[in-house]
Order: sequence, then C-alpha cells, then structure tokens
Amino acid sequence: MSERRDVRVPDLGEVDDVTVIEVLVSPGDTVSAEDGLVTLESDKASMDVPSPVAGEIVEVRLAVGDSVATGDVVAVLEVEETIEEQGSEGDGRAEPPAGGARAAAPEAEEAVGDATAGEGGDAAEGSAEGGDEAAQAEERAPAGDKPGAAAESAWDVVVLGSGPGGYTAAFRAADLGLRVALVERYPTLGGVCLNVGCIPSKALLHAARVIEDAASFAENGIDFGEPEVDLDRLRKWKESVVDRLTGGLSSMARQRSVDVVRGEGRFVSGQRLEVDGVEGARTLDFRHCIVAAGSRVVRLPGVPWDDERVLDSTGALELRDVPASLLVVGGGIIGLELATVYAALGSRITVVELLDGLLPGCDRDLVRPLAKRLVDRFGVEIHLSTKVSGVVAGAEGLEATFEGVAAPDPRRFDRILVAVGRRPNGDRIGAESAGLAVDERGFLAVDRQQRTNVPHILAIGDITGQPMLAHRASHQGKVAAEVSAGEPSSFDARVIPSVAYTDPEVAWVGLTETDAERNGAAYRKASFPWAASARSLSMGRSEGLTKLLFEPKTNRLLGGGIVGPNAGDLISEVALAIEMDCEAGDIALTVHPHPTLSESVAFAAEVYEGTVTDLYRPTRARSRDGGDRGGG
Ligand SMILES: Cc1cc2nc3c(=O)[nH]c(=O)nc-3n(C[C@H](O)[C@H](O)[C@H](O)COP(=O)(O)OP(=O)(O)OC[C@H]3O[C@@H](n4cnc5c(N)ncnc54)[C@H](O)[C@@H]3O)c2cc1C
Repeated sequence: MSERRDVRVPDLGEVDDVTVIEVLVSPGDTVSAEDGLVTLESDKASMDVPSPVAGEIVEVRLAVGDSVATGDVVAVLEVEETIEEQGSEGDGRAEPPAGGARAAAPEAEEAVGDATAGEGGDAAEGSAEGGDEAAQAEERAPAGDKPGAAAESAWDVVVLGSGPGGYTAAFRAADLGLRVALVERYPTLGGVCLNVGCIPSKALLHAARVIEDAASFAENGIDFGEPEVDLDRLRKWKESVVDRLTGGLSSMARQRSVDVVRGEGRFVSGQRLEVDGVEGARTLDFRHCIVAAGSRVVRLPGVPWDDERVLDSTGALELRDVPASLLVVGGGIIGLELATVYAALGSRITVVELLDGLLPGCDRDLVRPLAKRLVDRFGVEIHLSTKVSGVVAGAEGLEATFEGVAAPDPRRFDRILVAVGRRPNGDRIGAESAGLAVDERGFLAVDRQQRTNVPHILAIGDITGQPMLAHRASHQGKVAAEVSAGEPSSFDARVIPSVAYTDPEVAWVGLTETDAERNGAAYRKASFPWAASARSLSMGRSEGLTKLLFEPKTNRLLGGGIVGPNAGDLISEVALAIEMDCEAGDIALTVHPHPTLSESVAFAAEVYEGTVTDLYRPTRARSRDGGDRGGG
C-alpha cells in the first residue's frame, strides 16, 4: 500500500524573509529519509528541508526565488507503508532546519539502526598500513567502560570539535561511508575559524580596506569624503557572513548524515567519550576518535580581565564600539590584523611587542613596508622590545605601565586588546582517561597519519602544534578521516603558508631568510620590487616586494615571501611551486597574465635567472650551474 504525503516547511522560528535558493529534486526522483528537497536561505543562514521519509517525488510545489513560511508545502511524496515505518526513525534524527531554531536545536538521537555500523572501521582497517596497530591499540588502551547494553552502538568515527579540522574530518569520513558523530560544545559549527577567528576578522578587514582604498584615492581625484560608519549595520553584516557559513556547515552535516552532538565532550576511556549537553549526558563509543578540540586565547596575567574594556580577539571582533584609543598588546598576526581594523575605523592605536620585531617568524624586509604604512598612514605607535608591566582599571580608562629599553611612559587607554597567543585545549578533554599523552603546553603529538600515542585516536589542528592555522587543520582533517577509513594517507605537506591580512598583506611560505641564516642553509635570493610592477602602480601602491629563495646548486625553489595588497592570494603559487619541486626556470618561463600582481612571482624568478627586462640589473652571464647569477 502507498499513500501520498505533503512535506512542509518546518518551524522557522523567528526568522522571516526566507527564500528558496535551490530545488534539489524533481518529480519522479526517489528520495531517502533525510535527503534534502530544497535549500532555503534567510539573512541568517541557509538550510535544507529534508524529506522526513523515503519515497518518490510526485510533485514539487516550490521554485527558486519563492518566499516561504512555516507550513508551506514543499513537495508531495508517494510513500510505501513499509518505507514509511523506516522513515519515522529518520524523523527522530532530523535536526530542525529552522534558522531561528538553530542555536537551540534539540539534537538528533542517532540510535537509528545504521547499516554502516560495524563496517568501515574494522573492516576497512584491514587494508590500512596502521590497521593492525590500531586494533592492538584498542586492546592496549585503558579498558574503562567497554561498549555495553546502555551505550549506543559504536560509531566508526567520533570527531571532537567542529572547527576547520573537525568538520573537514567528519565530512570526509562520512563521504568515505563511515558512520560519524561530530561533537561540539557551542551552538554553531565551525570552531574558532568561522565564529571568532579567520572569517569575522577577514570580513572586518575587508571593511577596513574599503575605507582605506576610498580615502587614499582622494589624492588621485576621487574624494568620497569622511566615511560614515554605522557600527550596527557593519556588525550585522559581519555576523551574516559568519551565519551563512556556519549554517552552511549544519546543512552539509545533515546532507551527509553526520550526527551533530551538542555538548562538552570528555574521554572516559580509550573507546568512549561522554558528552555533557544541554539535554543531558550521552556516551559515544567509537572505533576511531579524531580529536579536533583546537585552542583558546592566552590570558596575560596582571590584566583586569573582569573589566569589559579589556578585550581578547573574540571581544575585539564583537565590535561593540570604536574606542578613541586602543592599546594592542602583541604584534603578531592577530594583533596587527585587529589593529588594522580599528585604525581604519578611527581608533588611535598603540602596539607593544615583547620581541624586537613585528610578525615574529617573518623576514624583516617583508615586515618593513607594513610597519612603515602602519606608522605613516594609520598613525600607529609601535613599541618593540616592550612589556606591559601592569594595567589598572580606572574610571577614566585603563592605566597601562610598560617595561623595556624604549618603553613609553605610563598611559591611559580607552580599551586594551591582548593578543599574545593561543593555547591548545589538550588539558580539557579528559585525555588521561584514554591514555593520551599531552605535553605540558597542552599539545597532543601525532605521527604523519595523525595518530596519537593511542593509534585509533587521531588528532588534528591547533591541538597538535604549530603553525596554528585553519588550512593546516583542514588538510590534517582529511588525512585523519582517510586513515580512519583504512586508507594509506599521510600528512606530508612540505610547506604551509602564513598570511597576515594586514594592509599591506604579508605572506610567506617555506624557507625564510631568518631560518636559513639561523640554520646555515645555503640559498640565493631574488627579489622583485613592486615599484616596477605595472599593476601595483595602477592600484596606487608601490611598497610591495616579492622575494624567492632558491637552492644555489639545483636552482630549486625553497621559499618565498610577498608583501603588498593581495599577497595572501599570491603566495599559493609559491607554495605550489615548492610542492612541485620547481626550478627558477619553471616559474620564469610560465607565462603569467599581464598586468597582474602575480607577474611579480615570475619576475622574481627572472631576476634569479638573470633574464628580467622589467628591471634594469647589471646582469652577469646566465649560467645553469648555479654559480653565477644576476639575482639579488
Ligand atoms: C582572530 C583570529 C583570526 C584568525 N585568522 C586566521 C586566518 O586568517 N587564517 C588561518 O589559517 N587561521 C586563522 N586563525 C587561526 C584558526 O582560527 C585556527 O588555526 C583554526 O580555527 C584551528 O582549527 P581547529 O579545527 O584546530 O580548532 P578550532 O577552530 O579551535 O575548533 C575547535 C572546536 O572544538 C570545540 N571544542 C573544544 N573542546 C571541546 C570539547 N571538550 N567538547 C566539545 N567541543 C569542544 C570548540 O568549541 C571549537 O568549536 C585565526 C584565529 C583567530 C583567533
């Protein structure tokens, strides 16, 4: 027997103005329970409306561009009775897709008999290099509670933490056919990166760039006048970017049948994680666990953290107001990016850095143009080799005192932003119950397969060490998922690019001159100044620089650095060239489009080759033995 059933738009909560942006099915299609039928988008998020049961689509009632409300019919399904019975379990699993309900989504009970349970993990491991090792490790790991009658059936993979490492691992594992649970303590997926890191900071940096580009063009004949900043709208826009991305992750988790379990997870044994959620505790037994619990802000002692005028990066990204004066403690990437935002919005910025240079780890010739522009253009005051020795909260402001050879006198600030680094969360996951080795800083050591000392527990992202960057986390996440599925993957990236999205941007990858000199590594440098770049000049900018470091005997590219607008995008070519073992000639002879900033990479290689014509260099004879070069 079959019957026809209407599928309706579920409760959309407070959200209105919801539009259909994609129709995922057509009449005649067969769908399973949980398959998406249409994708809706509000100003807060995008979401799929899943089919509650399996069946055949008879009619689709919505089209792209339609506005919808709770209860509207999305499609009509023909449902077989037997299929319907299975479908009711699907109903129970579905997370309400309503935007308004997202934050408080009652979580899915995943105890649906799952065809994949028992597959994938052990069976797949048989073909993996580390399969036996993992099986032994399960025996070796602290026994704790063995999966018992009270526990849910074991997951192939439980991922702890939903940042760029965790969600990537969960999605890849699901795509490989594994049964996956993704544990996250916060209401939205995406971790630090999407919620309080990369994405909101880049949205605000884009706003800063718009302000600065407009202002700097006044001297070239187009004067927009003073910008009027509506902080509420700017904040809302930034939040909409974040919501759209984090909402997209929830949709993709649903599309892949990844069960999102909300709550704080802790190991209780080598096979079990306990999750303390808003709806009570749950235990998740796993064959593999991927720890992606990330890192947290380091809080400088001696600073009155209970005063709301003291900010960490998360507080600064909230953009509550634009203080007249802001002290930024820490001249690393995060401190300087946020200094750029607030300077563009009108704050008077003072930066203090404990070390003797900004952006530690980056070559000084790349930092110099940034430091100069921060001072000359944005009026930023920079104090290097300076320590904040104390901060006292007063009625009129925060009184800061400093130590160091060039330390400024004590001074009052409206706000203080502390951006002195991040600390891994290895000390907060009950690692000892699983027998996991955590070092004194909170890191978990991993091998190239992302396995910890307990081989069926893998770890990825910030919790595994430096550099703490989203793209490292997500690449490691794929490896961990593939290893969990029994594939012979390993994380063998030669290089990981670093980018400061400041104005100008600074990006570097592979060998730096600083490292080469410290380690006595042989290299030869070739630089191309952007003052000779047609594209850079036509953008009204000339301070940039592209430099490449080559191995003198083989002419192979070892590293590179770029400072200038869009350096963060340009550095990918350098990274690829290193991964591909390119020689200078490979880069120089690759035809780059003109006029582009990307030409500067080819021109730097031409400088090394002695073939550059866009600069005048007294070149010596072109040589293939690496001994005689015109580079410099
Ligand atoms: C202001 C700022 C700007 C940044 N900009 C960039 C950038 O432009 N580019 C870049 O590459 N990197 C940037 N980063 C760094 C980047 O955000 C991190 O490297 C990245 O987020 C690390 O990813 P992850 O998956 O390791 O962990 P995280 O993103 O830290 O995610 C970990 C997740 O695990 C959850 N979690 C932790 N413990 C538990 C638990 N016990 N139970 C349940 N859930 C738990 C957390 O709530 C969190 O959601 C920035 C960071 C900041 C702070």
